[in-house]
Amino acid sequence: MQDIKELFALLDNQPEARILITTHHKPDGDALGSSLGLWKFLKNQGFDATIISPTDYGVHLQWMPNQEHVINFEQAFTKSKELVEKADYVFCLDFNALHRINQLGNLIHEAKAKTIMVDHHREPEGFDDFRYWTTQTTSTAQLVHEIIVMWKGEEAIDADIATCLYTGIMTDTGSFRFDSVTPHTHRTVATLIEKGARVSDIHQLVHDNFSFDRLQFIGHCLAHKLEVITELKTAVMSVTREELVRYNIQTGDTEGLVNYGLSIRGVEFSALFIDRTKLVKISFRGSGQFPCNEFSRDHFQGGGHFNAAGGQSTETLEEAVARFKRTLPEYKKYLANH
Ligand code: 5GP
Ligand code: MN
Repeated sequence: MQDIKELFALLDNQPEARILITTHHKPDGDALGSSLGLWKFLKNQGFDATIISPTDYGVHLQWMPNQEHVINFEQAFTKSKELVEKADYVFCLDFNALHRINQLGNLIHEAKAKTIMVDHHREPEGFDDFRYWTTQTTSTAQLVHEIIVMWKGEEAIDADIATCLYTGIMTDTGSFRFDSVTPHTHRTVATLIEKGARVSDIHQLVHDNFSFDRLQFIGHCLAHKLEVITELKTAVMSVTREELVRYNIQTGDTEGLVNYGLSIRGVEFSALFIDRTKLVKISFRGSGQFPCNEFSRDHFQGGGHFNAAGGQSTETLEEAVARFKRTLPEYKKYLANH
């Protein structure tokens, strides 16, 4: 594995390099923001750069500068395959294991390209040739900011890049409220605002850009689906396939739903189970001592951060939730009164 600074020298001597950027399944604000920020920077530097997303993403991100150039792997398989095969470098942003991007991961694994992993999740798989990785940051967008500044200086950031990186940092910090936020985060963000990130526009576009159906769906879930297990400081919610259809739920519409559980006084762990037909997808969020990533890894084939993790199950929705409830008391030491 080589230092990222050696990559800068390589790329400086290879202006014709074909660079591909990819990110995780169902990209969130950080995944898409860091990808689009890096893409615009590379384009401004004269590189042939392309973004492939493994899937589509939510409407609340479909305003981001240059997002119309993103290629959806599921909709453009042949073109994507060709791009991966021809690429000299592939940047993998906001994920660190190729299996998390399914078939696209296999193509990248087989391709000749050098890979660069830029990420802030635990336990990197180790597929990468170059790495810029730490868990001690807010977001991949913040790491991309550092890469740009190290490589070409602050002056290489234009308003589009600033907007994309601001969005990534904002969404991955729950609008600057998580533990990961430091003075350094705010200093970074301050420079992004100076470069043209429009704070209130971005917040509005991300947070106030959903359908009436989605709000009704949230109302339904909060009124009828949310359960609190008081003695274990846990909230749990499950969503059926039928409910997703009834409320016309689209990609991105369930993002954030798991956080409502944590807003209840005394609740320190929240779980959301969604029946995605082939799999039950699960989100875990914690606000105390509960190790969400460890729990997800040990019981739901997943992982993630200490306070925000995800996983999956091939059981039925009912079976997965029942097993969750049976398993939880084993973790009483983290969830009992303290
Ligand atoms: P979310 O609940 O938003 O889907 O995921 C929260 C975090 O959990 C993600 O940032 C990611 O780090 C992690 N995560 C989600 N799903 C999985 C999974 O299936 N496997 C692993 N290893 N991590 C996941
Ligand atoms: Mn992220």
